[in-house]
Amino acid sequence: MEPILNALAPLWAVCKIPADLPLLPFARQKPLPAGVRCAVCAAFPYRLPEAYDSNRNIARYAVGADYHAVCGARLARACKALRVLFPGEVFEWYCDNAPLPEVALAAHAGLGVRGQHNLLITKAFGTWVFLGEIVTTAALPAKSNASLPKINCRQCPAPCKSSCPTGTLQAGFCREDCVSHISQKKGLLTHEEETALRQAQTAWGCDLCQEACVANRHAQTNPLPEFLQSPTPCLAEETPIEGRAYAWRGRDVLLRNLRILGRVDTKNLYSQAY
Ligand code: SF4
Ligand code: SF4
Repeated sequence: MEPILNALAPLWAVCKIPADLPLLPFARQKPLPAGVRCAVCAAFPYRLPEAYDSNRNIARYAVGADYHAVCGARLARACKALRVLFPGEVFEWYCDNAPLPEVALAAHAGLGVRGQHNLLITKAFGTWVFLGEIVTTAALPAKSNASLPKINCRQCPAPCKSSCPTGTLQAGFCREDCVSHISQKKGLLTHEEETALRQAQTAWGCDLCQEACVANRHAQTNPLPEFLQSPTPCLAEETPIEGRAYAWRGRDVLLRNLRILGRVDTKNLYSQAY
């Protein structure tokens, strides 16, 4: 099994799914197959070297190819190989659509620890990882190739919180107040929301709490090779959006955000769209 998991991701961990782990209520999640009892949690690093940072105006996770496709292809390949290795057992994969809380499950499996910014902190790559899961009916032995980071959020001055432009991490986190969520909203933004986008200087997503996180100071910057193909750190009016993590939201939302940042004069187009 280990060669399959080593080919899946640089970091992986296998665990029993806790019986009391709450399922997520969202309708877009793929349901869990009946009888699953174990999970493989995988962490896919995506942070590119600093050379790709100049003029970047989107969150790091969106610079490379859409992670759903990249990580999904790896998870699908691993599932196929595991089904051959464990005939008769069910294997199903998820990436950003799991009915299980990904960070809680990954922390339970030993992939990393949950930080005060609610993200998983891995020892090798800090928070700059995508998470994916394979659930199975097979009784897999608990195992991990990851080490836990030596970080204690309770003894940290928490620059992640003070860096947040909306203060939502100080207030217990509300998704509606997170710039990452605001950058994805359709339609007109409020004055406060526009101000938050400008503060974060982002046309898509927000990295400020991760940039500030102490645990990321020594994070490795060697992403999956797929993310080094055609990286696009700076979004502009004419940037093709196909195959990118922001494509699902459509161009109008991106143009609105660019206009708010003053990167492009899309006022006329914006007025027509909204
Ligand atoms: S992503 Fe940005 S807005 Fe959201 S919690 Fe982190 S710093 Fe705050
Ligand atoms: S900045 Fe400190 S408190 Fe915040 S998540 Fe990182 S280690 Fe934890």
